[in-house]
Amino acid sequence: MPRKSSAVLRQRRKLLLRKLPPLESVLRGSLIERYKRCGKPGCKCADGPGHGPKYYLSVSYPGRAPQMDYVLQADHAEISERVANYHRVREILEQICEINRELLRRREAL
Ligand SMILES: [Zn+2]
Repeated sequence: MPRKSSAVLRQRRKLLLRKLPPLESVLRGSLIERYKRCGKPGCKCADGPGHGPKYYLSVSYPGRAPQMDYVLQADHAEISERVANYHRVREILEQICEINRELLRRREAL
């Protein structure tokens, strides 16, 4: 990384903050798609992947089985965006931390 002035780094940090998605609109986890065969005799789903897609938000916690929450089809787009927001927030936080670490190395005011 080419050396940038500390003023430039602080400016970049300010821009990153402005790009933060609204923090109330974040969801951690992944959206997964499931198809299910209903098992009813004669149902056409027996020949295909099954009924669906049905969506679930799957969230992992250390040392526990992942938690799955059903997501209504109508909410899929919004939930998907919120999951993307979470990743965006993490990315931005990481970049801000990198800037702060660089300022720390330079013994400059954070
Ligand atoms: Zn079926």
